[in-house]
Amino acid sequence: MNLQYTSTRDNRIRCTASEAILKGLCDDGGLFVPVELPKLPVSLKEISDMDYRECAYTVMKELLTDFTEEELRGCIGRAYDDKFDTPEIVPLRKAGGAFYMELFHGKTIAFKDMALSILPHLMTTAAKKNNVKNEIVILTATSGDTGKAALAGFADVEGTRIVVFFPKDGVSPVQKKQMVTEKGKNTRVIGVDGNFDDCQTGVKAIFSDRELGSRLDKKGFQFSSANSINIGRLVPQIVYYVYSYSRLLKNNEIKDGEEVNFVVPTGNFGNILAAYYAKQMGLPVRKLICASNENKVLFDFFRTGEYDRNREFILTSSPSMDILISSNLERLIYHIAGDDPEKNASLMASLKREGRYEITSLMKKKLTDFEAYYASEKETSEKIRGLFKESGYIIDTHTAVAAAAYDKYLAETGDKTVTLIASTASPFKFTGSVMGAIDSSFKGQNEFELAEKLSSLGKVKIPPAIEEIRNAEIIHKTECKIDGMMEEVERFLS
Ligand SMILES: *Cc1c(COP(=O)(O)O)cnc(C)c1O
Repeated sequence: MNLQYTSTRDNRIRCTASEAILKGLCDDGGLFVPVELPKLPVSLKEISDMDYRECAYTVMKELLTDFTEEELRGCIGRAYDDKFDTPEIVPLRKAGGAFYMELFHGKTIAFKDMALSILPHLMTTAAKKNNVKNEIVILTATSGDTGKAALAGFADVEGTRIVVFFPKDGVSPVQKKQMVTEKGKNTRVIGVDGNFDDCQTGVKAIFSDRELGSRLDKKGFQFSSANSINIGRLVPQIVYYVYSYSRLLKNNEIKDGEEVNFVVPTGNFGNILAAYYAKQMGLPVRKLICASNENKVLFDFFRTGEYDRNREFILTSSPSMDILISSNLERLIYHIAGDDPEKNASLMASLKREGRYEITSLMKKKLTDFEAYYASEKETSEKIRGLFKESGYIIDTHTAVAAAAYDKYLAETGDKTVTLIASTASPFKFTGSVMGAIDSSFKGQNEFELAEKLSSLGKVKIPPAIEEIRNAEIIHKTECKIDGMMEEVERFLS
């Protein structure tokens, strides 16, 4: 029997995994969720003898049940290969009393590569399975890292095109340069005069415009999403939680069945939701610690039960977490409402109408898997400097938000549970902020010179992703206003 997916807003909607991946977002504006979460099919002890790909197959086959073994292994094999700079794919590094789960060894040196190196393969396979003849147009809003990772994944993939919208003043210089130098012939990168939430809302509006949809269908196009609302991104992210646990087991850092904590620097709530799903599938997890930067809408939500986006949008040194509408939280809301689409839909309507909603006390009681902490800009940069002084290990700003949040959690709880911190980007992606935190005399220096200094201080080689963009030609120069996004899409497809 195939596992079915349904909408967080309407349980009459039913489809297979491959259909859900193709569509990205449900027609009713809801997100696809599995009707039930399967359990891990083998023991963690057995998984500890597997390599990354085998672990990925073991986990993903339970969730993408309408893919054949050959199809799924093919996708996994093409994704997790020597594009990653280490055969471990996700190495663990012990520093300052925690394990850092390094998710940035892929092509664009951010954790988005973990899912976006496989999504194009899942999507083209899904298109074949479902006899889709249209060209698939990926529409993506990015706070910086998704954009380049999606471009790298979809560039020159036959039968696809990709449009990326980014906030033109809201990403790091390296992030921007990575995107606007993209060479793929099927790509278009556009800077929007707005913030990430504006980009995300604009993309959602294009998706749900039926008229545009049918116009494009006649021309042989259909939209899909590479954002973390696509379950084709969520499912591959469950893998590295299971894998990292199994590495600790293999290295005798934990006993079989022992609980661990995960700390996740959070923006759109995709990464930490994958950890929650891993727990539901049977991974022994004590707490999922949701770490926010100064845009601490999630911290407030977990503390009070009220989600309120009516606040100032703050540009921080961890731009990939500068988000006030965490899309994937909708899936958690649906689950803690007892998989109740009506309840969820009414809260989401309130979010749309008033920018806020409040969950019931019964729902709030179901949040015990989570803890929430946040780190200010000052605490983030102090953590980068402190950890470097203590251990010689240099982390990026997003990871530092998580590490600083974990320090606060430890100070409050004294919890001795073995803890893994999701390290979501290479420090080379945010060289200015990282080096400025280590020594203020570095502030304002050229990003590429700083990369050399970071390399010698941290004793790590400059990643090829940085070398590649150093002298690359700028190809994408288009900018648009928020209300001009749809027009840009149509222009690209005409
Ligand atoms: C996207 C991103 C995040 C936030 O992840 P979500 O899944 O959106 O919560 C954190 N850190 C980095 C470096 C990212 O690129």
